[in-house]
Amino acid sequence: MKNIAVLGAGVLGSQVAWQAAFHGMNVSVYDISPEALQKAREKHREFAVLFQEKYHVTEEETKNALKRLRYFENLAEAVQDADITSESVPEVLEIKKDFYRKLAAVAPEKTIFTTNSSTMIPSMFSQETGRPEKFLAMHFANPVWEANIAEVMGHAGTQKAVFDAVVDFTREMGMVPVPLYKEQPGYVINSLLSPFLSAAANLYFNGVADYKTIDKTWMISTGARSGPFGIMDLVGMQTMYNVMMLKAKQTGNPDALKRAEAIKTQFIDKGKMGIASGEGFYRYPNPAYKDPDFLK
Ligand code: NAD
Repeated sequence: MKNIAVLGAGVLGSQVAWQAAFHGMNVSVYDISPEALQKAREKHREFAVLFQEKYHVTEEETKNALKRLRYFENLAEAVQDADITSESVPEVLEIKKDFYRKLAAVAPEKTIFTTNSSTMIPSMFSQETGRPEKFLAMHFANPVWEANIAEVMGHAGTQKAVFDAVVDFTREMGMVPVPLYKEQPGYVINSLLSPFLSAAANLYFNGVADYKTIDKTWMISTGARSGPFGIMDLVGMQTMYNVMMLKAKQTGNPDALKRAEAIKTQFIDKGKMGIASGEGFYRYPNPAYKDPDFLK
């Protein structure tokens, strides 16, 4: 599979497109918004510079990657040669369903469809794809090239050969595949991370220990580069809030609601969004937990 269409070119879609182009794929990038498409084009030029500076790749390699990227405002044109699509439209079920109905109407029969949805499972919109046997999740993390796992997860109706082909494809894209043999909300990484972060938040917001002590405990005990509160800064306070609120609503647990509200009043309302805004639990670019004395 050499031709990939990346559908939705926001934060994650633009990264997936670059990663695929850099690894030799022909990439068609589509977005419903011409502004988003323009922004993706600019980001790709920035990624080219970043790759040269940070990862010491040659200018020629990045130039070739840029040449393999094409941008489309028309969905049918974007997918006309696609062996595989990677969809990164917003995480809203109705938007996904509506999008797949439109994609199903214009994509060639051979095309495999993959979704990058983080919180939904493929069976929630497999019928709308019109080809459930060729539909599954290929889930990336942010930034795609550093957290370079690709979680591959089908639903009960996904063909085994299609699943295997996508696992192989992720390797060709420079990713480490993480095959999941059953549908699992949160895949592997978020199934681990979510209860971990929630346990840390309970300890801190219930006044059991302060967040630096909790991070330090984790880092000394496991050798990890950061603890749960450093990870929350990386994930970002808005996402933390959304996830905690969702859980509070699902469980009706008043403690969960309190934790979510604390994130809002103590962080979001003050513009402390995490690493992205320069401050969350820690201040960036030199957070306290990177100081060697932190572990004393
Ligand atoms: P984003 O808001 O940055 O990008 C979404 C893009 O989709 C926008 O450019 C928007 O213009 C476009 N769009 C909206 N409706 C569309 C349509 N009908 N057709 C085509 N394009 C449309 O969002 P994001 O953070 O890139 O997330 C997109 C998907 O990727 C979600 O499913 C999310 O769960 C998943 N994801 C995100 C992250 C992350 O860290 N941001 C990580 C892994 C997976």
